[in-house]
Amino acid sequence: MPRCNPYGYATDAGPKHLMGGFYGPEYAGNQTVLPDGVHGPAICERPATVRARMVCAFDHVGPIMDLCQQHVRELQSRMSDTCTRCVWPEEARGLDESMNRVMRSMADARADGDLPRLHALNSSLDDLRHAMDELRDRGVIRKVPLTLIEIS
Ligand SMILES: [Zn+2]
Ligand SMILES: [Zn+2]
Repeated sequence: MPRCNPYGYATDAGPKHLMGGFYGPEYAGNQTVLPDGVHGPAICERPATVRARMVCAFDHVGPIMDLCQQHVRELQSRMSDTCTRCVWPEEARGLDESMNRVMRSMADARADGDLPRLHALNSSLDDLRHAMDELRDRGVIRKVPLTLIEIS
């Protein structure tokens, strides 16, 4: 009988599911991560009796997990979880990367004392922020709750 493995409960959670490093360990869930960001020691010792996975309303599915009854209940009651793929669609990730790039350039411009460049960069950062808001308004970025479903 496999041991209960509640990690990676969210669609992209669990460090090895964090989309090639796009998500930091803080997305892996409280149980798996210590306050200092190190992978936590909370390993469940109970045997798994249920196979289940997290799904969102838009057909994103998480990895199949072997779970004990207690973790099934715990994951089912965790209503605040949202699907990371729905919150971070391709477009949003692209914008996020651009914003980071612009912010790095702003730091350089600031260090160089290049004010005209800093202003130009600042306004393109504003544009990117507006584009991100627009994705939210258009529902491209969605907060979708995850539900635990059992696999028979
Ligand atoms: Zn467990
Ligand atoms: Zn989703």
